[in-house]
Amino acid sequence: MPHEIRDITIIGGGPAGLFALFYAGMRGASAQIVDALQEPGGQLTALYPEKYIFDVGGLPKILAKDLVRSLTEQAAQFGSPVHCNQRVVALEESGGHFTLVTATDRFPTRSIVVAAGIGAFEPRRLPQSCADQWYGRGIYDRVSDPSAFAGQRVVIIGGGDSAFDWAHQLRGRAASVALVHRSDRYRAHASTVADVQAAAAAGETALHPFHELHDVIAEDGRIVALDLKDIKAKSTRRIPADVVLPMLGFVSDIGPLAAWGLRVEQDEIVVNSQMETGRPGVYAAGDITTYPGKLKLIATGFGEAATAVNQAVHHVYPDKKVNPGHSSNLAIFGQKDD
Ligand SMILES: Cc1cc2nc3c(=O)[nH]c(=O)nc-3n(C[C@H](O)[C@H](O)[C@H](O)COP(=O)(O)OP(=O)(O)OC[C@H]3O[C@@H](n4cnc5c(N)ncnc54)[C@H](O)[C@@H]3O)c2cc1C
Repeated sequence: MPHEIRDITIIGGGPAGLFALFYAGMRGASAQIVDALQEPGGQLTALYPEKYIFDVGGLPKILAKDLVRSLTEQAAQFGSPVHCNQRVVALEESGGHFTLVTATDRFPTRSIVVAAGIGAFEPRRLPQSCADQWYGRGIYDRVSDPSAFAGQRVVIIGGGDSAFDWAHQLRGRAASVALVHRSDRYRAHASTVADVQAAAAAGETALHPFHELHDVIAEDGRIVALDLKDIKAKSTRRIPADVVLPMLGFVSDIGPLAAWGLRVEQDEIVVNSQMETGRPGVYAAGDITTYPGKLKLIATGFGEAATAVNQAVHHVYPDKKVNPGHSSNLAIFGQKDD
């Protein structure tokens, strides 16, 4: 499906991309986001929606999902579209403009801001084939609404931050919580591990180190239990389960970006202080960029997004200044335009 040409198309709807979308609107440029995931927010939505963030300027403490909501609201005031479930697989250039190509759609654009973070990513799936048919029907690798698991017997598989965070968050909300991991070496934050271990000692959570999924037991078309294999003893045991949450991390891939004539080193785009990528009209911002002193933080991504968009605006409309002036003076917000 072809879309109308935009001044700026932003690849990636993480915090850098969402702020870039707002900034493009503020500069009077037509813009859009194209993102591979099913909803905006990038890593914040996919990896840690329920975690607090403490280092975004002006916000002493904010849940990742709430920051995404605010960024989305800020960007939405200009009505620019966010196209989800659209993974960019190719870049074409002809007739004086670019076209970003996904499996189903084509997005013509006069300039590009690549805010692709760590690349298009998806949850690592359980390797056991017995799990395949239950994805979306009892096995979920993303949690967007923890209240959906109220009263359910939840089994979490994994040993990292997400596994332990959800074991902590769902305790008391779910009917029961069990955490299964292949070893007793956990990669999660020490305080969360200690919290879950204390809950296990108190009988409030079941902890199964050195176990892995062996089989999914179902009755009447729904999961009722899991068979776990004890990796050391080679025995199996059955535990009750209504819901299984594999938290095995994500696999990410910057994919075709590397072949677009950008300066790419170790899966990152080398940019200069104007966020230029080496290909005229293509800028970058956020975690995908690298330069001396680079910090991969939300706060730095915001600044880079502003720089990238201002450069893109000037590239598309050379008579428009790079410097936007102060938002507090802009007519677009009903203020006195300077
Ligand atoms: C557990 C955890 C906790 C963190 N805590 C903090 C914190 O407290 N403070 C802080 O500042 N930072 C924190 N970070 C880091 C922060 O999340 C990142 O710096 C930030 O998400 C980078 O934003 P981004 O917009 O550059 O990229 P991302 O958030 O990675 O978003 C990139 C988006 O691009 C999309 N994309 C990629 N390739 C394509 C493609 N080919 N086509 C279409 N879409 C594509 C992806 O789907 C994704 O939505 C944390 C990270 C993690 C994992």
